[in-house]
Amino acid sequence: MDVATPRRTKEIIERHGFSFKKSLGQNFLIDPNILNKIVAAAGLDATKGALEIGPGIGALTQQLAREAGKVAAVEIDRRLIPILQEVLEADENVRIVHGDVLEIDLQALFKEQFGEVSGVSVVANLPYYVTTPILMKLLEERLPLENIVVMIQKEVAERMAANPGTKAYGSLSVAVQYYAVPELVCIVPHTVFIPQPNVDSAVIKLAMRDKPAVDVADEDFFFRTVQASFAQRRKTIHNNLSSWLGKDKREELTRILESTGIDPVRRGETLSLQEYASLTAALETHGLKG
Ligand code: SAM
Repeated sequence: MDVATPRRTKEIIERHGFSFKKSLGQNFLIDPNILNKIVAAAGLDATKGALEIGPGIGALTQQLAREAGKVAAVEIDRRLIPILQEVLEADENVRIVHGDVLEIDLQALFKEQFGEVSGVSVVANLPYYVTTPILMKLLEERLPLENIVVMIQKEVAERMAANPGTKAYGSLSVAVQYYAVPELVCIVPHTVFIPQPNVDSAVIKLAMRDKPAVDVADEDFFFRTVQASFAQRRKTIHNNLSSWLGKDKREELTRILESTGIDPVRRGETLSLQEYASLTAALETHGLKG
C-alpha cells in the first residue's frame, strides 16, 4: 500500500506514536502525483541506483524501490528507522542507513552500495534547514552522480537556476552551474505535506556535467572571487573587488577588468561563469590573490 496518502501517513504516524521534529525539517509528502514527477525526472531504471537523503517514513523510498535497481536511504532520526524497516520490509533492493548525511563518508557508501549499478542519482525531499550544505557536499565531493533531483524551498531553487542579469542570480547560481545544468521541474504547493511548511517548494533537477562548465586553475580562488564580487550586491564589481583586495589595488583592478572585457561599473550579478573564469585567471596572472 502506498505511504504517500494522507490516510496511510496518519495511520503509520499514529500507530508508532511518532511526533514531528521541526528542527529536522520533517515535512512528509502525501501526494503520489508529486512523487511520480520527482521519480520520473531522475530517469531511473533497473540498472540504476538512487541515493535518498531523509527518507522520513518511506513515501519516496517506496517509489524509488519500484523504479531503481538499488536504493540507499540515509536518515538522521533514529525513531524513523523501525518505521522504515516495517514499511520497506518487502523491498529487498533498499538499504536504510542511520546517520547524518553531512557527516557520513559518501564515497565509501557509494562503493559499498552502488558497485553493481550503471549510474547513481540523488533523489530526495530535502530538509530545508540544511539544503545548501547538503547540495554543496554532493557537488564538491565529485561523487559519480548522473542527476540530483530534489524538492527544496522554491526561492532556493530559483537562485540555483537563475541566469546572469536577474535578481536571483548570485554565488549559489555560479556554484551550482559550475558543476551541473539546473532545470526547474515543478512548483509544489505546501498542501502536499504533513505538516505543511511555511514556504513554497519546488523540484529542481541538476544534471551533472562531465567536467565543470568553465576551466579554472584554482577552484578555491575562483569561488572566493565570485563570493567577493557579490559581497554587496548594490556595489560595482570594481568596488567589491577593491574592498576585498585592498584600496591600493584600485587602478590595477580597473586595468585588469578592462583587459578582460568587463566594464568596471558592472555589478557582480551581470557576469557569466565564463567572465568569472576569465577574471579569476587575469587576477592570478597579476598576482592578486585576495
Ligand atoms: N522523504 C520523506 C518524504 O518525502 O515524505 C521525508 C522528507 S522530510 C522533508 C526530510 C527528512 O530528512 C526527515 O525525515 C528528516 O528526519 C531527515 N533529515 C534531516 N536532517 C538530516 C540529515 N542531516 N541527514 C539525513 N537525514 C536528515
